[in-house]
Amino acid sequence: MKEKPMIAEDEVSVMGIAAPEAAAAEERRAEHKAEPKAVPKQPEVKVGLKEDLEDIRKRLKALAAKSLSLGLNTPMHSVIAEIMKRTGLVDERWIQYTSVEVENNLGKEFFLKVPKGERVLFLPHCLRDVKNCAAPIDEDGYHCRKCGRCAIAKITAEAERNGIKWYMCGGGSQVINIIQRVKPKAVIGVACYNEIQMALEKLRATNIPLQAVMLRKSGCVNTEVDLEEVFEILNA
Ligand code: SF4
Repeated sequence: MKEKPMIAEDEVSVMGIAAPEAAAAEERRAEHKAEPKAVPKQPEVKVGLKEDLEDIRKRLKALAAKSLSLGLNTPMHSVIAEIMKRTGLVDERWIQYTSVEVENNLGKEFFLKVPKGERVLFLPHCLRDVKNCAAPIDEDGYHCRKCGRCAIAKITAEAERNGIKWYMCGGGSQVINIIQRVKPKAVIGVACYNEIQMALEKLRATNIPLQAVMLRKSGCVNTEVDLEEVFEILNA
């Protein structure tokens, strides 16, 4: 009678008799399960609008500055619009906001060289609480009484703390008149996008650096601005 082949103990599984290769594969799987491979540590990802915004701002500034340094003779708005289109951020408000950021970045070095006492801040009177504001007006614009009903009180207090002279005006032509009269070495402007562009155009010829903050909510009355952005420039 033919003898049955011997079956090693380790070839017997709960499922029955395993082929040697299958047993080896099973063993490898078991080892794999027992000692999971170390997962490479992922870099920390910051999530949140503020961080994302900061990241986008940095990348776009660098890209736009590079484009300009290459000698592209194109208006800033067009450069930014093209970049935004390529990154999928096509909203006009984003384009405007980023254009202002890039312009600020390009002029910042010159701005920072000017002592604070020779910088002047221009604020739009549309930031006032129009119904309740008691600020008197003269050729220098409105004189805030710091009643606290609008953001002007906090902004002007911060400007004064920094030794920065401020004006609250109606618009571009009044700003230019004051600049011609007062002759500041650097200007900080809070305004809507169009006013900022007009100011930039005028100031380019004078070599006066401008740092601008675009209104978050524009319009003719009760506009809004991000205080943090204004304070950042006032304290720079
Ligand atoms: S804080 Fe100044 S600008 Fe604002 S409403 Fe009062 S007085 Fe007018």
